[in-house]
Amino acid sequence: MLSLNHVTKKYGNFTALEDISLEFSGGVYALLAPNGAGKTTLIKMLATLIFPTEGEILWNGDEIVALDASYRDIIGYLPQDFGYYKNHSPREFLMYMSAVKCMDRERAKRKTDELIELVGLSEVRDKKMRKFSGGMIQRVGIAQAMLNDPKILILDEPTAGLDPKERVRFRNLISSLSKDRIVLLSTHIVSDIETIASRVVMFKNRRLFANDSPASICGTL
Ligand code: ADP
Ligand code: ADP
Repeated sequence: MLSLNHVTKKYGNFTALEDISLEFSGGVYALLAPNGAGKTTLIKMLATLIFPTEGEILWNGDEIVALDASYRDIIGYLPQDFGYYKNHSPREFLMYMSAVKCMDRERAKRKTDELIELVGLSEVRDKKMRKFSGGMIQRVGIAQAMLNDPKILILDEPTAGLDPKERVRFRNLISSLSKDRIVLLSTHIVSDIETIASRVVMFKNRRLFANDSPASICGTL
């Protein structure tokens, strides 16, 4: 379980998030908030790229800052501006990312093939990504985020810019991945929330505004 206890984040004198307490167990959590509401700030704190000014973030009771590398090992992250290597094939890219993550080469090969199949790119695994659609690129992005079998998968606006067919396919993929992990998804797209989220987390005026099932916040969407 991942929990935030009274977390406040300030940038200088500016308070981006104030007194946020939240718990994440399993399933898909949709983070819904207007631009500037602090979604990236939360995601970056969970990825230990930045740190709370006050309060603490715990993984199974231990502060994530203290867990350091062993915590980072359980995080998978697909950034919003996922930079892929156009002249690489999915297989080359995933092998490269495994090397960056210091994975053993045999394990990296096995994981690469397994994940390429999981995201439905087996037929193009050796094709350059140059001509890939946005949805195919995002599936490569999910595969790289899954290389270390993360317990927490963080996806920043993963369905933005996908066509409706790809979006459905991508949602099914996300649902299938949420069975034994926490998936945290930031999105503006209401249909993402209605179809795959188990909880919806909303911020307003820097504070936690809602943490409920999609059905119960339907009227506010
Ligand atoms: P998003 O698309 O998630 O709203 P932004 O475009 O607001 O993200 O921000 C992109 C990056 O710029 C983030 O890493 C954020 O931390 C940083 N950033 C946003 N606002 C400021 C600011 N006022 N001063 C410095 N950095 C900022
Ligand atoms: P979101 O991702 O929801 O768009 P962010 O977390 O990027 O929001 O930003 C929340 C608020 O904090 C915004 O007002 C943004 O301008 C500000 N902010 C983000 N990063 C920085 C930064 N590095 N320095 C100063 N202000 C920042």
